[in-house]
Amino acid sequence: MKITEIHVYSVPLPVKDGPYRMSSGEVWALDSTLVKIVTDAGHVGWGETCPVGPTYQPQHAAGARAALAEIAPGLIGADPLTPVALRRRMDGQLNGHRYAKAALDIAAHDLMGKAYGARVADLLGGAVTERVPSYYSTIVGDPDETARIAADKVAEGYPRLQIKIGGRAVEQDIETLRKVWERVGGQAIRLAADANRGLTTRDALRLSRECPDIPFVMEQPCNTIEEIAAIRGQLHHAVYIDENGEDLATVLRLVGQGLCDGFGMKVTRIGGLHAMATFRDICEARSLPHTCDDSWGGDIMAAACTQIGATVQPRLMEGAWLAEPYIDGHFDPENGIRIEGGHIRLPDGPGLGIVPDESKLGAPVASYA
Ligand SMILES: [Mg+2]
Repeated sequence: MKITEIHVYSVPLPVKDGPYRMSSGEVWALDSTLVKIVTDAGHVGWGETCPVGPTYQPQHAAGARAALAEIAPGLIGADPLTPVALRRRMDGQLNGHRYAKAALDIAAHDLMGKAYGARVADLLGGAVTERVPSYYSTIVGDPDETARIAADKVAEGYPRLQIKIGGRAVEQDIETLRKVWERVGGQAIRLAADANRGLTTRDALRLSRECPDIPFVMEQPCNTIEEIAAIRGQLHHAVYIDENGEDLATVLRLVGQGLCDGFGMKVTRIGGLHAMATFRDICEARSLPHTCDDSWGGDIMAAACTQIGATVQPRLMEGAWLAEPYIDGHFDPENGIRIEGGHIRLPDGPGLGIVPDESKLGAPVASYA
C-alpha cells in the first residue's frame, strides 16, 4: 500500500468561555492543523497537531505547517502500514519537529486501523479498559472560584484534578491549593499542582514546605530540568515532568537519573502514537505514572489520546486530558469524543474511531501528491 495524497487543513478552535489561562499566558483561540493521508487502495487516515499557542512550548501552528511542507512530499509513495519505517523516512526529510511528524504518525495509525479493521488501541498493544479516565484542569484563577470548580468536577466523577498555578504571587497559589483541599480533601481524588514552568526554585520550595499535608504532585514546577533537580531532594511532594519531557532520549535521562516520579506527556511532543507507546513501556518498566494528553486539539487529537490511554496499565494511568470541555462542536458530530462523568468512552469503530465531517474543515491549505 502506498500513500498517494496528503492534504493539510487549518481549522480555528475558539476557546469556549475563554480565555484558557496558564502561567505562561492566556489563549482565546487555537489554530489546529489537520492532515489527511490517502492511499492507492482508497484508504484514508486523519491526524492532528494543535500547540496551545506559541508560548507554552517552542511548537506553534505555523511551524507545524512549515514542517509538514518539508516532510509531506517525501512521504508520497511510502507505506503507511509500517510506522517505524515511516518515522525514519520523516526523520530523513527533516530533523526534529516531532509535533508535526506526530500528525502524520497519527494519520498513519488511523489508516492502519481502518485497513485492518482494528482499533488503534488494539494496534498499540490492546485496550485494558473501555472507559478511559480523564482529569480536569482548572485555569490559573481566583482561589475561591477554583475551589468551587474543583468540588463540582469531583462531584461530576473526575478521578483527578490538575490545579494550574504559577505566574503570580506564590501566596495566591498556596491559598488556592489550601481552599481546593478544604473542599475536596478526604474524597477519592488525586491532585496535581501544575505550574507550567512558572515557579522559581525559591517559590517551589516554599509551596511544598507550606503544604506538606496536601497530597498533590508538583507538575513541571520550574523552567528547566536543572532547576527541578536542584530542589527535588528538599520537596515534600512527588515531582512530575511535563514540558521538559521533550523526546524519548530526555525521558530516558529523567527516568534513568531518577529526576521525577511521573510525567505529564503529550502525544505530539513525543512524536506521535508510536513514540507514545514506547514512552508508555519505559514508564511501565519503572512503575512511573503518566498522563496521555495533548496540549490542545479537536476530535482527532482527543481520539488519539483516548486510544493510547486505553492501553496504559490502570495503576499508572493518570488520565487523558482533552480540550473538549473548551470547544464548541465536534469534527465528527456523531462519534465525537466526549468526557462524561470524568471518563471517556473508547470508540468502537476501527482506527481512531472517528471520521471528521470534511464539509466543516474548509479547503486544504496545502496538498501533496
Ligand atoms: Mg502540565
